[in-house]
Amino acid sequence: MEDKVLRKLFLGFIHIHILHHAKEHPIFGVWMLEELKEHGYNISSGTLYPILHSMESDGLLIREDRNVEGKIRKYYTTTEKGNLILIEARKKAYELFKEIKD
Ligand SMILES: [Zn+2]
Repeated sequence: MEDKVLRKLFLGFIHIHILHHAKEHPIFGVWMLEELKEHGYNISSGTLYPILHSMESDGLLIREDRNVEGKIRKYYTTTEKGNLILIEARKKAYELFKEIKD
């Protein structure tokens, strides 16, 4: 129960992380999994990949397939629309943080 609630909550945070990093440089799945792990989010590729796909179809990320040593790797970059969402989310996250930090 508690787990389910936390997972829902963290999904939002994960979306924000993705938009933030994909804005700085193109990201790919394995890189993003490692980054999230460093922040304490232990999610599987089975969870992350559908998130990346849905963010792509929502127009928040744009995908570029690159050939890396004979294998196709999908890179994602934040779009202009994704950036607007990120700006809004950052404001909201900051407001919330100020209110609950103590
Ligand atoms: Zn991060």
